[in-house]
This record gives sequence, C-alpha cells and structure tokens, in this order.
Amino acid sequence: MFENFDVKEWASLKDYSTIKIGGKARWLIFPKNALEVKKILKILKKNNLKYFILGNGSNTLFDDNGYDGVIISLKKLNKIEFDGDCVYSDAGVNLFVLGQKLKMHGLSGLEFCHGIPASLGGFVYMNGGCFGHEIGEFVEEVLVLRDDKIITLKKDQLKFSYRKSNLQDCVILKVLLKLTQNSPEIVKENMDNYYDKKKASQPCDLPSLGSIFKAVYGDKTIYVSKMIDTLGLKGVKIGEAEISNKHAGFIVNTGNATSKDFKDLIALIQKELAKVNVYPELEIIMLEK
Ligand SMILES: Cc1cc2nc3c(=O)[nH]c(=O)nc-3n(C[C@H](O)[C@H](O)[C@H](O)COP(=O)(O)OP(=O)(O)OC[C@H]3O[C@@H](n4cnc5c(N)ncnc54)[C@H](O)[C@@H]3O)c2cc1C
Repeated sequence: MFENFDVKEWASLKDYSTIKIGGKARWLIFPKNALEVKKILKILKKNNLKYFILGNGSNTLFDDNGYDGVIISLKKLNKIEFDGDCVYSDAGVNLFVLGQKLKMHGLSGLEFCHGIPASLGGFVYMNGGCFGHEIGEFVEEVLVLRDDKIITLKKDQLKFSYRKSNLQDCVILKVLLKLTQNSPEIVKENMDNYYDKKKASQPCDLPSLGSIFKAVYGDKTIYVSKMIDTLGLKGVKIGEAEISNKHAGFIVNTGNATSKDFKDLIALIQKELAKVNVYPELEIIMLEK
C-alpha cells in the first residue's frame, strides 16, 4: 500500500517523542513533500485507516501499546527559503535548526522559541509561545492541506488564540514568517538570554513534554505549576515519571517511564487540584492505540 513512500513498519515511537515513551506504530511514514502528504492521505481515506500527523513529538504522549494506524512524520519536510525579512519554511523544520539559520541571516522575532524542541508546523498548530510572545504574531501565510486540497491561507484568514489556531483541521505544510532585520550578534544574544531563562526554570536536561496543563482556564489565567508546587507535589513519582523538582508543571521521564506512569501521575495531580476547585485543561496530546 505504501511501497512508493519512505515507510517503517512496527517502528518504536519512543524515538519520535521528546518524553521517550511509546510502543510501536503499525506504520510510520515520512513524506518528502506536500504532494506526497496529499497522496498518502488519499490512500488512508480509501483504506479507511486512522492516522496522526506528527511534528517533533514534543507535545505528544504515545501509548505503551503503540498505535495501530499510520503516523505521518513531517520531519522530512525540511526546506527553508529566505527573502529579505521573510522566511518560507517547511512545517517539519525543527525550531532549533530554524533558529540557527535565522541567527546566521540576522533575523529577529523568534528568539523567544530558542530551546523549544518543536517543529515549526506543530508550534503554529498549537500557537505555541512563551515570554509574552506567540508564534502567530509572525505568521504571514500558511500552505495547508484541507479537505483534500492544497491551499494558501493569508494572514487575514488565520486566527490564533492561546494555544489554539484555526488550522487544527489541516495539515500545515509550509509557513511564511515575517521577521525583522537585525545583526546576527544581537539575535544570538537574545537567543542566549531566553535560553538561559528557560534553563534556570525548566528541566531542559530531562525528557519531557513541556507544560502538562494550559495556563488559561475559561477566561482566566491560572498559574497551575505554582498551585501544584503549593500542594507539595514537586518530586512526586509514579514508576519512573516524576513531577519535576525544577518546574512543577512538567513531568519528566527519569529512566524508563511508561505512558501508564505518566497518565497515573496526571490523574494524581488532577485529583489534588480538584480538592482546591482547579480543573485545568491538558496541553499535551495523549494518543491512544
Ligand atoms: C522542553 C520543552 C519545552 C517546551 N516549551 C514550550 C513553550 O515554552 N511554549 C509552548 O507553547 N510549548 C512548549 N513546549 C511544548 C511543545 O513544544 C509545543 O506544544 C509544540 O507546539 C509542539 O510541537 P511539535 O512539532 O513537537 O508537535 P507534536 O507533539 O508532534 O504534535 C502536537 C500536535 O500538533 C499536531 N501537528 C504537528 N505538526 C503538525 C502539522 N504540520 N500540521 C498539522 N498538525 C500538526 C499533531 O497532530 C498534534 O496534535 C515545550 C516542550 C518541551 C519538551
């Protein structure tokens, strides 16, 4: 069925998520361009197979039992083109790689993302952000696959809000970003400063999925990690999944944690938060088998 594509059967999903948890995927496919993504989705529809679009897996918890459908990894969509202060980047480009290129070209704007292990497409899908910025601020247009068609959506057709975009029914293929010219030295300094702040407050040296819960609840901002800390849960461990001692909003994998360890720990946090009437939404995606 997939003989014309780069495909792995029964690939371990541990290697495709930053938390290093997960069983095997029946199929893991690596399209090389937008047209291949379209062709693959056509085959999946025809054969009634379930699928999941994967960026860099920095927000995705795979199940210990794996996935019995098709994981479409976009990591081979990895071209970046520059035109003045605009950058046209494939969705699979890792933010670290993009950041290094932006530094070389002296382009400012995305320094706040330095150190986030996401793909650009995944970050746009989630409208990721930190330090008062969100990626949506910089997106001029996107090339997407929607309803079997590859189309361009311009800025005025895009909607971004806290960890949401109106692209969640699409496959994001390419993103046009508008940045600001700066000197490579200043871009580097900004990146280093942001990364130093991240390292000081987050367990960047251990596998994680970033913040487990959203900081917005209804129309209110809640500091979930502070609450978890106040409840005395830092360092609590189930199996080899641990509520980080450095940042209570993160769960880290201290060795060979399973998805069950991870989910049980989330359930424990939710139970404790419910006692103080706090019911935050999950930020991470938990993909069931
Ligand atoms: C150490 C660490 C620090 C982090 N810090 C931050 C932070 O400061 N701010 C923040 O917002 N997040 C942060 N995160 C969380 C994470 O990086 C973001 O949620 C990011 O947007 C996920 O991108 P990804 O490519 O890894 O997505 P994945 O985990 O691969 O996928 C996440 C979701 O996006 C979908 N998706 C991915 N790519 C596409 C695409 N091209 N088209 C359509 N759908 C797609 C997937 O189907 C899935 O539903 C952090 C994570 C880690 C591990």
